[in-house]
Amino acid sequence: MSAQQLAIAGGTPVLERGDYQDWPIIGGDDRRLVNEVLDTGILAGGTAPQVTALEREWAQYIGTKHCLTTGSGTAALHMALAAMDVGPGDEVITSAFTFLASASCALHQNAIPVFVDIDPKTYCMDPNRLEEAITERTKVIIPVHIQGCPADMDPILEIARRHNLRVIEDACQAHGAVYKGRKVGSIGEVGCFSLNNFKNLPGGEGGLFNTDDEVLLHKGMLIRCFGDEIDEVSHRRQYNASILGYMYRNQELPAALARAQLLHLDEYNDIRIANADYLSDELSKLPGVIPPYCPPECKHVYFMYNVRFAPQLAGVNAEPRRFRTAVEKALYKEGVLVGQWQTMPVPAQDLFQTKLGYGGTGYPWTINEEKGIKYNYDPAQFPVAQELCDTYTIIHGIHAPNDQQLMRKIVTAFHKVWDDLDTALAHADDPIYPGPDGKLYGAG
Ligand SMILES: *Cc1c(COP(=O)(O)O)cnc(C)c1O
Repeated sequence: MSAQQLAIAGGTPVLERGDYQDWPIIGGDDRRLVNEVLDTGILAGGTAPQVTALEREWAQYIGTKHCLTTGSGTAALHMALAAMDVGPGDEVITSAFTFLASASCALHQNAIPVFVDIDPKTYCMDPNRLEEAITERTKVIIPVHIQGCPADMDPILEIARRHNLRVIEDACQAHGAVYKGRKVGSIGEVGCFSLNNFKNLPGGEGGLFNTDDEVLLHKGMLIRCFGDEIDEVSHRRQYNASILGYMYRNQELPAALARAQLLHLDEYNDIRIANADYLSDELSKLPGVIPPYCPPECKHVYFMYNVRFAPQLAGVNAEPRRFRTAVEKALYKEGVLVGQWQTMPVPAQDLFQTKLGYGGTGYPWTINEEKGIKYNYDPAQFPVAQELCDTYTIIHGIHAPNDQQLMRKIVTAFHKVWDDLDTALAHADDPIYPGPDGKLYGAG
């Protein structure tokens, strides 16, 4: 049987854009709760009804005593570091494969991010590489539950305990994910989530700060609202800032949307999991396609569906980055929405290479560099994250309401490309997308 003509070589694509349905799903609950906001006329406020209800419902859902809504996931992470009294020159450890905010939250507190390479299967922080990153300046570890996969919390917590360090979970990509029977975001001292439009629990924009600790809760509340003391009896602001704070509050409309989405979170996560499992079963039959891994004791919620390509296993003699690019382009031309999210480990980004911090100066790195301590963000220190960035792509559209009908078409497109990898490789340099860096269809 001869291979079908690939779309990249002028053939007919397998999929059309209309095969995909968009995220988030807006339904009756969203309209009902948004209308509730409009009917009350209350749009914002620290004790406003939607914000308060979301805090109660989310804390209950993940199993923490307290939750504070915030303006963003980034704000929640920064609030957590500030509530822990992290300060100038302190070091904060996070994963080398993550979104920038897991690290820039440290800079916002005048602290210095230090990166740990990732586990080659889960793509989360590798606990075996954690201890070598700890110094006497380390204060906090921020594991990230990347793309919906829980980080290996037990060894991370054990190392933190041994070195007297605190742990903040960056759970911005993992709403509803479970590690050994516990929802992520309830395991460290603070768990942070994002309500950004693309995330598994979208509210438009916003964030969630979760903790069991009364001190962190109280400090978080102060920091969220300018550091302003609140009168305990009247609940009024006193316009007397007792500490440095920020304006990190959220508001009623995003809170109402997030509450409506929460009613469907488990159902929508189950659809992601079913789609991901189907894709993994089918794609693992193709030589050189490496589907994502979920540790047996975990529930992965597939914020992103990550596949990697190994040219030698596919029987192709090509450099890994070139092979990935060729396959991405061929799939994209078949109508599959694919493309990289992070294209490099976070420490490889210009911000860390140039260390241009506050006011374009080297601050806060200079705090310690003036004492002879060097911060080396050479990407060669993160070979596993680098190899992942060379070889992975994201298959978009595994979220609800897309179902197996779409997944089957995606698998068909993969088979079509795998039947004619030579043609795909011959078109690896085709200038078919506008992205500056080989990026096809970004995650947002
Ligand atoms: C989205 C995200 C954040 C930041 O959330 P925002 O709400 O966009 O500020 C932080 N960390 C990770 C891993 C994320 O994916």
